[in-house]
Amino acid sequence: MSNGPYGQLACDCGAVTLLVCGGSLGNGRDAEGEPVSLWPQEAIQLGQGADELEVVPDARGLAAWQCRRCGERLLHIDDEAGMVVLAGSSEEGDEAGLALTTAQQRRLAELGYRVADGA
Ligand SMILES: [Zn+2]
Repeated sequence: MSNGPYGQLACDCGAVTLLVCGGSLGNGRDAEGEPVSLWPQEAIQLGQGADELEVVPDARGLAAWQCRRCGERLLHIDDEAGMVVLAGSSEEGDEAGLALTTAQQRRLAELGYRVADGA
C-alpha cells in the first residue's frame, strides 16, 4: 500500500514541477504504444512554476499542462472523466486498469489509450 507522496515530476527545463500524491488508477499505453499512468485528478498538484505553466487544449480535446519555456507537456487532463494521464508507467506496476471504472475505461479507449481489462 502506498498512500504517501508518489513523487515529484519536472519538465525538461525544471521550471514547472508537479507533485503526485496517492495511488494511481492503473497503467496503460497511448496510441503510439508508449506507457502512460492514469491518476485521479485530485492526486496531481502544481509544485512550482505557476507563471510558466500554460494549459493548452490538445487535438483530442484534453487539457495539456505545458511549460512555456521548454514546451514539454507534463500531463493531460480529461475533465469529463476526472482523470489525469502522465507519461511513463507508475511504480505500482502491472495491475493495468486496476481502479478504473468501466466508464473511464471506455472514455480512455475513445481517446486512443489502451488499458488492460484484467481479464
Ligand atoms: Zn520547462
